Amino acid sequence: ELHVKDIIQWLEKTNEKIQLNKDYLTALDQAVGDSDHGINMSRGFHEVVNQVKTKDYTTVSDVLKDTAMILMSKVGGASGPLFGTAFLRFSMGVKGIDPINQDAFTKGLEDALAGIMQRGKATTGEKTMVDVWSPVVNYFKVTTNVQADEVTQTAKQAMEQTKEIMATKGRASYFKEKSIGHIDPGAASSFYIFEALSEVIK
Ligand code: ADP
Ligand code: MG
Ligand code: MG
Repeated sequence: ELHVKDIIQWLEKTNEKIQLNKDYLTALDQAVGDSDHGINMSRGFHEVVNQVKTKDYTTVSDVLKDTAMILMSKVGGASGPLFGTAFLRFSMGVKGIDPINQDAFTKGLEDALAGIMQRGKATTGEKTMVDVWSPVVNYFKVTTNVQADEVTQTAKQAMEQTKEIMATKGRASYFKEKSIGHIDPGAASSFYIFEALSEVIK
């Protein structure tokens, strides 16, 4: 079960990881993009944590909704609207349910992934964040007894797997074959989101 305080902790832990790995994320985006992913994510999550701390929330859905709005307005680039949509759909998916149990959480995640795919006109195998979100969502869907370590492992393997893929969506697609051999930046930041989650559900 996840309460408002757990969701806030999830966002805080995600922020810590993104701030720690800001330069790394930007370096990944240097290889297959325009060198701003770490900067974009660090600006967005810094603001999320700053703002959600100051408010008194009664529902998980409200925290996620504010997160979505802040990410949309602060992250920018391609990833801002995508992560924004993910958290917005997540918020809508768990509306009226509080605290959220595993079923509700899984539904929220599933809706978030659907939002990313619709917004990005993306599917799996295109070297984007979808390649991390999709297996993680699947893990939650098929697993009755979710284990924190398995969540991290699933996300980590999926992130590393993006190295082998040639990008066909977003800026990385301009690099064609040259995009192979590099981890997708949005896949890496998505990994931090799920690694942070696993620390909260532990
Ligand atoms: P920009 O490419 O505009 O500079 P960022 O660098 O912040 O934006 O984010 C790039 C990340 O966004 C990519 O690594 C990828 O994971 C994700 N991305 C880009 N385009 C799409 C898309 N159409 N669908 C899903 N994810 C995408
Ligand atoms: Mg970029
Ligand atoms: Mg950019």
